[in-house]
Amino acid sequence: MFGGPDEMPAADRPAPPDRAADRVRVLLPLPLPGAYDYRLPPDVPAGPGDYVEVPLGPRRVVGVVWAEGGGGIEDGRLRPILRRFDVPPMPEVQRRFVDWVAAYTMAPAGAVLKMALGSAAGLEPPRPVTAYRLSDAPRPPGFKATPARRRVLEILSDGPPRGAAELALEAGCGIGVVRGLADAGVLEPVAMRVSEARRDPDWALPGPVLSGPQRDAAQALRAKVRAGDYGVTLLDGVTGSGKTEVYFEAVAQALEAGRQVLVLLPEIALSAQWLTRFEARFGAPPDLWHSDLTPHQRRTTWRAVATGQARLVVGARSALFLPFPDLGLIVVDEEHEGAFKQEDGVIYHARDMAVVRAHLGRVPIVLVSATPSLETVANCEAGRYERLDLPSRHGNAVLPEIRLIDMRADRPERGRWLAPSLRDALARTLEGGEQAMLFLNRRGYAPLTLCRACGFRLQCPNCTAWLVEHRLAGQLRCHHCDHCVKLPDSCPSCGTGGSLAACGPGVERVAEEAAFLFPEARIAMMTSDTLFGPHAVEELVRKVTGHEIDLLIGTQMMAKGHHFPLLTLVGVVDADLGLQGGDLRATERTFQLLSQVAGRAGRGDRPGTVFLQTYMPEHPVMQALLDTDRDAFLASEARERIAAGMPPYGRLAALIVSGEDMEAVDAVARRLGRTAPRMDAVQVLGPAPAPFALLRGRHRRRLLLKAPRGVQVQSLVARWLDQVPVPGSVRVQVDVDPYSFL
Ligand code: ADP
Ligand code: ZN
Repeated sequence: MFGGPDEMPAADRPAPPDRAADRVRVLLPLPLPGAYDYRLPPDVPAGPGDYVEVPLGPRRVVGVVWAEGGGGIEDGRLRPILRRFDVPPMPEVQRRFVDWVAAYTMAPAGAVLKMALGSAAGLEPPRPVTAYRLSDAPRPPGFKATPARRRVLEILSDGPPRGAAELALEAGCGIGVVRGLADAGVLEPVAMRVSEARRDPDWALPGPVLSGPQRDAAQALRAKVRAGDYGVTLLDGVTGSGKTEVYFEAVAQALEAGRQVLVLLPEIALSAQWLTRFEARFGAPPDLWHSDLTPHQRRTTWRAVATGQARLVVGARSALFLPFPDLGLIVVDEEHEGAFKQEDGVIYHARDMAVVRAHLGRVPIVLVSATPSLETVANCEAGRYERLDLPSRHGNAVLPEIRLIDMRADRPERGRWLAPSLRDALARTLEGGEQAMLFLNRRGYAPLTLCRACGFRLQCPNCTAWLVEHRLAGQLRCHHCDHCVKLPDSCPSCGTGGSLAACGPGVERVAEEAAFLFPEARIAMMTSDTLFGPHAVEELVRKVTGHEIDLLIGTQMMAKGHHFPLLTLVGVVDADLGLQGGDLRATERTFQLLSQVAGRAGRGDRPGTVFLQTYMPEHPVMQALLDTDRDAFLASEARERIAAGMPPYGRLAALIVSGEDMEAVDAVARRLGRTAPRMDAVQVLGPAPAPFALLRGRHRRRLLLKAPRGVQVQSLVARWLDQVPVPGSVRVQVDVDPYSFL
């Protein structure tokens, strides 16, 4: 496992043999083994970190000057750098970070650089943007003030002009609403330079009055930020204890010191409520960084970070690779979240790499969670990380009461999924004018469709997976590739009409049952299939907060972050779901997810109750949830992992061999199996077909290397791979510290 940045030295960069002043090494954002030499023409002054354009074969490519000098290629064959971009150079710490991540994850440095470039268009000076202000002209006849329009107008009535995207974000509406207002002449466009359109967060605005324990934690964090040195702190507190308010104090301190702040969130698009809170606290929206940005947003945000104008960036894992010139604090919220692990391209864990980034930049980092990962807890216990506790919920709120529903005794009717006791509790809650939530971490209507006549099961042609029925969309979909077909009328195998039966529940099916049971209730679904984009989520969150919704039904999208004071009942339809498959972290993840979901109940003045429907009430996870005894649970998990030599007490690296040609894949996998490192205490499992032996049309085999903590797995794996030739049709991916075993 990742035990901190001291575990491995930074990648060696040997001094070049001849430090010729007119040649430099340029790293290109491509999966190449290293940096390439280029000639520096006298009229192009470029030094380390500068972004430059160079020729590569017939193409022009943007790269970064990685080092002076170079060697190996004679002068005559060197090609020249074509131009240098007018943007501050990539800071040295960022370049060291790119090298470090490449060495740790065993990815080419260029592939990591690609993430750091983010938006090559950001290298060009920004064009003026169009902002809008209220026009003095009278409203046109027939002008309709919809609620969304009113919100836009209200925002502009006391504030500077804002860009359309920013207005739309603030008003929680589509960008079309802003454009419509401009077309109607109610808003007036003004040209602004991007830097003028920015509003800086104001650290001096007061936060809430903190409780005693909150104040202690906030002061400790503020002191660390003031000291401005590397150190990892776990901010550990139950859901609703005020962790966000506490780390906002650290953010304020870093902003006061004039430094940049990075807050990493697991799923940025889902945190509209968080952004609203941030804006309320600091008087301006943060800069966002995630995969759904428009090209314009990417460009301006990247550049604003590079020039130091962006003071506070809130982003998903890739924000870690932005070129902050003066980063003073990193916060990783929900540090235990699996979404921090990137599973394709460069395979890395953003929480772990954030610790490395903090170490290289000598800045403090705060990891925040109500259910910290075993990795982080082990690092605290080993004294590598510090820990601050917030023991109780803020104000009058108390933790919810947990009840287990034994599904073997308290059975739902045939073809239904809610146990009688949960149904009764839902009825009482809704009658009492309170809100409830039903959680099932499974999208669609039914996870399996089979033919009652011949038993045929509908399977994805490209993956080892059943097709999931999405009844609202009238489709069968594979949740692993894009495969999608219309729901057939008859069995594709035996041709019998009307014989297909849906098996098991997805959220859509639970919603159907709830609508049948509670026809009066205002029900909404919260899943990635029913809500598109942050605005839709924000709109729904607003409705729930405003009590326009009585019953919310959804997947894990609903589990995190949201604060609904009137919500007093949470029902988990299938608490056992995550325990199936049983990989290394299945119990830990189930515990975290269910704690998180349970934490939605009773956050206001009224106490909450959580019902967990389970066929295994005696399972340690269920018992730990019942007793709200996280530390006992973690201790027992730790004992099991120690006994098995598993992370965080041992190390793993996975090799995934894949390709369309099964024989070629098998040949490479077998050869890797034969050449596996043979050392005391190092064990190699496999090759074995991956649980998804076929995924997106590719055959997959896995090997797993297990070693004691002290072993540097990267060099072992590198030597191992060196011995095995791999044909072009086969790919071998290395996953250091794997989280997915599929
Ligand atoms: P966590 O991040 O631990 O789940 P939050 O910071 O979201 O907790 O706090 C839960 C709720 O309680 C939020 O609505 C927050 O604004 C409120 N809250 C927390 N601490 C205070 C405080 N000291 N004064 C006022 N409200 C607070
Ligand atoms: Zn598929």
